[in-house]
Amino acid sequence: MTGEEWQAISTYDRDYDDKLVFVLRNGTTYCRPSCHQKPRKPERILVFSTARAAQEAGFVPCRFCRPDQKEWKGAKADLTEQARKYLEAHYHEKFSLKVLSDTLHVDGSYLLRTFRAQTGHTLLWYHQHLRCREAKLYLSEPERSVAEIGAAVGFSTPALFSRVFKQMEGVTPSAFREKTIGEKFTI
Ligand SMILES: [Zn+2]
Repeated sequence: MTGEEWQAISTYDRDYDDKLVFVLRNGTTYCRPSCHQKPRKPERILVFSTARAAQEAGFVPCRFCRPDQKEWKGAKADLTEQARKYLEAHYHEKFSLKVLSDTLHVDGSYLLRTFRAQTGHTLLWYHQHLRCREAKLYLSEPERSVAEIGAAVGFSTPALFSRVFKQMEGVTPSAFREKTIGEKFTI
């Protein structure tokens, strides 16, 4: 391993993601430099200039940084995408950093920091945003009560729904409903 290679690997440098891959000596998988999965020590690292070379030496691609795939935005972007997808499928459930970070096999505080740096928002903000986004769809139709809608999108009490919705949208659910339904009828 050259000094330049170590520099790239030790700093998780994304610019080198398409220039080299590495393996830890006792490991079976190879990673891109920016992969967040592995702690690094220079004496234990093997470097390959291509994924193919690592593959031919008997190593398998890491399932997080997917060094065998060409389209690659970096491990942090990928992790953010995975967190986003998970929340989109689970926003009705109570937010749990532990469950999310366990599911994605990463450290919780690393996940928080990465998501925030990549999107400008916290994970909790995104979770609430998804709930409110769905609530707004229901609120623009008169069939269901505000309390029912709050429960349907995952809030445990109407008061919590109202408070979070106001924080996120600037108005209460009832005020939002009045405004959108009012607009519909005037059009
Ligand atoms: Zn990896």
